[in-house]
Amino acid sequence: MDEWDVAIVGGGILGTNVAYWLASRYDGRFAVLEKEPSVAEHASRRNTGVVHRPFYLHPENAKVFARAAGVSYHLWKAYAAKKGLPWAPVGTYEVALEDDQVDTLHKYVGYAAENGMEPSEIEFVDPSEMRRREPNVRCEGAVFSKTDTAVDYQAFTQAVKADAEALGVRFLTGVDATGVTATDSGVAIAVGGGREPVRARYLIGCAGGSAIDLAHAMGVAQEYTDLHFRGEYWTIDREAARLATHNVYSVPRHTDLPFLDPHWVVRATGRREIGPNAVPVSGPASYHGLVRPLEPWVAKFFEPPVYNKLRLMMDKDFLSLAVQEMWSSLSKAAMLQRVQRFLPALRLQHLVSPGTAGIRTPVVNAHGRIVKEAIEVPGPHSYHILNYNSPGATGSPAFAVYLVDRLAARGDLDHLRENPRPSELWSWDTIATAMELTA
Ligand SMILES: Cc1cc2nc3c(=O)[nH]c(=O)nc-3n(C[C@H](O)[C@H](O)[C@H](O)COP(=O)(O)OP(=O)(O)OC[C@H]3O[C@@H](n4cnc5c(N)ncnc54)[C@H](O)[C@@H]3O)c2cc1C
Repeated sequence: MDEWDVAIVGGGILGTNVAYWLASRYDGRFAVLEKEPSVAEHASRRNTGVVHRPFYLHPENAKVFARAAGVSYHLWKAYAAKKGLPWAPVGTYEVALEDDQVDTLHKYVGYAAENGMEPSEIEFVDPSEMRRREPNVRCEGAVFSKTDTAVDYQAFTQAVKADAEALGVRFLTGVDATGVTATDSGVAIAVGGGREPVRARYLIGCAGGSAIDLAHAMGVAQEYTDLHFRGEYWTIDREAARLATHNVYSVPRHTDLPFLDPHWVVRATGRREIGPNAVPVSGPASYHGLVRPLEPWVAKFFEPPVYNKLRLMMDKDFLSLAVQEMWSSLSKAAMLQRVQRFLPALRLQHLVSPGTAGIRTPVVNAHGRIVKEAIEVPGPHSYHILNYNSPGATGSPAFAVYLVDRLAARGDLDHLRENPRPSELWSWDTIATAMELTA
């Protein structure tokens, strides 16, 4: 029976990047277990496709995400050029809809500097200048992040997969890890379908929206729970595409829940979309339908630990936003109204078809707070990444280096022989140095 040196559960953009870096640093038998027929079928495809510059991320509270996004921008730029993949530097306006949000914009200019962006990449734009640049956008001021870029993350993931395969990684697609048991020397991963368990000396959990379930199956991360929110988008017709030529995001009303605020996005193909809302759903692949049938949703809510979610529900801001979100899912007009706050010329007839829905899985801690950073949880012969949310696709190559580096420092990769391979495109040493984060 096969035994892998490392099995990575999850062939999204994170698991695929981790596999690539492991194989580029070590000799060993590496497998990625992916339950779908191909990589990047979930969040890594169903996202907004923006390479986010880290101007809006708190340099301390979201330090790792901010650093990974900052470093990875340059990696993806070089990668897209080398592989001939879409790279459309559309730029993002973050707009203040109320006077009292202007302070947040000034704060963002400071965050941009602290997170390593060049002064030339970010600017504050006052309302009159904004009217000149984007005459259809109404706001009290904006920050322009000039280098935010539209890409196709599924294409990126597929290209990194090919690079990982060239280094010997095996992608076992159609393999669903349904349970994991720690053994004396590693893990036995049940894969269903009457097949033999997959055995590995070490497991890295990169299972996206199912990451908590995998960690709980191994008896770790019991203090955390998660919620799934489906974000839905509408595609804008060609005639209305001219209403704004850059991405437009509004300053979050609730800093803990930035994904609840609407935006206008320019895709790498030039298509415009608006969204998202955030409909609570029962699972990481509930792409259709509303909360009905209620049963799985109720079961999801009461999944232990329940206390975290009960505390979150006591937050009245969260509750009122959640209800509004649900309503904008039921009603196309409600979604429109939210975007009209900054783009009043947009009309219902411009929203021609549903865009791609994606599911976010924020993790809730024991204080009932939605966690802002990726969470790392060691387990028996394993390590789990939870809460790997936006801008996770942006930051994935640098985050993967950071992770492999941490596993090495913990001694978790001591069963592998180090054998760094030169890469003409991405330099391990440069990335690892840039990702060194003091506690
Ligand atoms: C609506 C939306 C918009 C977003 N927009 C952006 C954006 O513009 N820019 C950005 O940087 N980020 C964005 N993000 C965030 C980004 O997409 C995610 O952070 C990133 O894709 C997460 O990658 P992942 O590999 O961890 O997860 P996923 O892509 O979800 O991959 C996890 C994989 O694990 C597999 N899996 C799960 N359980 C098992 C199991 N038991 N056995 C085998 N396989 C399993 C799944 O099938 C899946 O393929 C967005 C996210 C959403 C939902």
